[in-house]
Amino acid sequence: MALSKTQAVVLRTRDLGEADRLVTLYTLEHGKVGAVSKGARKARSRLGPVIQTFNHLNLLLYKGKSLYTITGADLIDGFPLLRGDLTKMTAASYITELVERTSEEGDPDQEVFYLLVTSLHLLVEAGYERQVTWVFQLRLLDRLGLAPRLDRCQCGRKADMEGRRPVAYDPAAGGVLCPRCGRGPTLSREALRALYGLQTSPVEEALSLSVGPGVADDIDEFLHDYVVYHLGREPNSLRFLRELWGMRGGEMCENTKEGG
Ligand SMILES: [Zn+2]
Repeated sequence: MALSKTQAVVLRTRDLGEADRLVTLYTLEHGKVGAVSKGARKARSRLGPVIQTFNHLNLLLYKGKSLYTITGADLIDGFPLLRGDLTKMTAASYITELVERTSEEGDPDQEVFYLLVTSLHLLVEAGYERQVTWVFQLRLLDRLGLAPRLDRCQCGRKADMEGRRPVAYDPAAGGVLCPRCGRGPTLSREALRALYGLQTSPVEEALSLSVGPGVADDIDEFLHDYVVYHLGREPNSLRFLRELWGMRGGEMCENTKEGG
C-alpha cells in the first residue's frame, strides 16, 4: 500500500510549475521527505491554505517514485501567534532550518519530531524565544551525537565550574579545553554554568533560566560556533536572528512567563 497517514511539520515550501507547491516535510513516520501538493496555489484549493511553513498537520501521503504526493491534510496547529511576531517567526525559521539541514531523507526520529513540535509551541507561548532556541539546539546536538562536552576537557580533566576565569572551547575538539590542551574562543564561567544547566536540566527548568545580556550573548556565541562548525556554514535564519537580538541592546534576557 503506497498510501500512508502521518503527522508532519512543514519545514519549507516553494512554488512548482503553474499551480503546485513543492513541500519539505518532517514527518513522524518517515522523517524528512519531499512532497508535492498538487494545485495548492489555485484559488479554490482545499489543501493550499493548510500547507504552510511551520504548520503541524495530519497528512495522507501517496508515495511515488521519488516524491510523495499530499492527498489529504488536516491542521493540528497553525501557530497563528507565531506569524505576527518577527522574533518568534525568525526563531521558528531557525529551528525548522536546523531540522532540515541535519536530517536525512526517509530517516525518521520521533524524538526530533516531538522536539520540533514542542519548540514551536514554546515559541508561541511566551517571551522567552532565546531560551527556547538554546534548549532546542542543545537537545538536537545531543540527539545527533554532537552534544558539546562542558564538564571536562578532551584529556579528561574536569572543568572548574566554580572558577572565575573564562574557559576556552573548540568545537573541533568537542567542547571546553583545559589550559594545557589549547586555546580557542572563550566562554565566561557564568555562561558555562548556564549552558551546563541547560544541557542537564529538564526542559521546564531550563526554560526558566534567567541570565544577564552578556551571558546570553556568550551562550549564543558558543552555540553559533558549534552549529556553524557542524553544518559547515552559518544558517541564513541564524544570521538574521542574531541581528534581531543584537538590536535589542542591553535588554535583560529574562524569563517573562507569568504564573505557573
Ligand atoms: Zn585538557
